[in-house]
Amino acid sequence: MPSAKLTEYLRDQLADLKAKGLYKAERRIETPQKSTITVNGREVINFCANNYLGLANHPQVVEAAEKGLKEWGYGLSSVRFICGTQSIHRQCEQQIAKFFGKGDSILYISCFDANGGLFEPLLSDQDAILSDELNHASIIDGVRLCKAQRFRYKHSDMADLKAKLEEAKNCRFKMIFTDSVFSMDGDLAKLPEICDLADQYDAIVAIDDCHGTGHLGANGRGGAEELGVLDRIDIITGTLGKTLGGASGGFTAASAEIVDWLKNRSRPYLFSNSVPPSLVAAGMKAIELVETSGELRTKSKSNTKRMRSGLEAAGFTIKPGPTPILPVMLGDAAVASKMADELLTRGIYVIGFSFPVVPHGQARIRLQVSAAHTEEQIDAAIAAFTEVGKKLGVLK
Ligand SMILES: *Cc1c(COP(=O)(O)O)cnc(C)c1O
Repeated sequence: MPSAKLTEYLRDQLADLKAKGLYKAERRIETPQKSTITVNGREVINFCANNYLGLANHPQVVEAAEKGLKEWGYGLSSVRFICGTQSIHRQCEQQIAKFFGKGDSILYISCFDANGGLFEPLLSDQDAILSDELNHASIIDGVRLCKAQRFRYKHSDMADLKAKLEEAKNCRFKMIFTDSVFSMDGDLAKLPEICDLADQYDAIVAIDDCHGTGHLGANGRGGAEELGVLDRIDIITGTLGKTLGGASGGFTAASAEIVDWLKNRSRPYLFSNSVPPSLVAAGMKAIELVETSGELRTKSKSNTKRMRSGLEAAGFTIKPGPTPILPVMLGDAAVASKMADELLTRGIYVIGFSFPVVPHGQARIRLQVSAAHTEEQIDAAIAAFTEVGKKLGVLK
């Protein structure tokens, strides 16, 4: 068989990944997603879902999905512009636009698609994209599909961004694109400074708010609201797959004209199915819940503070940052994965991250604190980390 050579080659490649400790084996969870899950028949506390407010499987979100399924059916068997647009798709898009204070929004199957379909329709070879070097893979791929000139600036380095804007000065349109929250480090983009530079150089500001929407900002409007610049951001991409219910669905919110153009030209939108109505209905309910979830956001902050100060008091090094993402820095990849395994046997579900997801020598365990965690669960995690940290020699 002609494929035998490829199969053999991949067998070697996979063995190589395993030998280097870089192979990703998937753990299986035996329950729906929530703050406690069952793994290998055992209940464990979950600290690695993007379920920041605990809205994944929230009863009202599930009920809205069931209602959406019953009222609007399972699926459309169509892309949006042929016969795949139901009233709820437009209602959801208008709700998202209003939520962010933008002219309109467009739904995609995922934010990966929203980012994949953003750049190519809007920018051509006369234009420039200025992108943070730590931007999400979907942004990198989206930029690759576009003919605009590319300028990659050093992570959150405003002097470097300014230098790149200077280089791109004569381009027709200049778009600065950044994650609002960097998911491996838990830091926020310097959006106020970025907006100032954008004003100075007549550039468009676009953000990916996947790890901010719903739980950051006084009203849950994400990283830009948290930093007080929501009205200065031109384009926001985001997901229904994290804080907003946790299933899937992505969106781009921007001016009505940008959105209308994307609906006419964005390939993952034009050539891929409509978002299933149950997901649309549940997403709308999740946004509604977020609008009135001030208490959950307060809980998220106090839980995060409790976890950070507990671990720091025990002697762990955690990257600074204002988000519920807490990277416990361990350095060595083998230590990070051993530590995650040891923690699982103590009822704490976390994952070690190493190269290529993070730079060599900066392996870590990333904790994601949820408003759904109880203080007892946070304290149990701190105690288990401390015990395992001592056992592995991470702590004195
Ligand atoms: C999760 C994530 C995505 C992908 O979102 P999906 O809706 O799951 O495709 C894109 N960008 C960032 C920054 C993310 O964290």
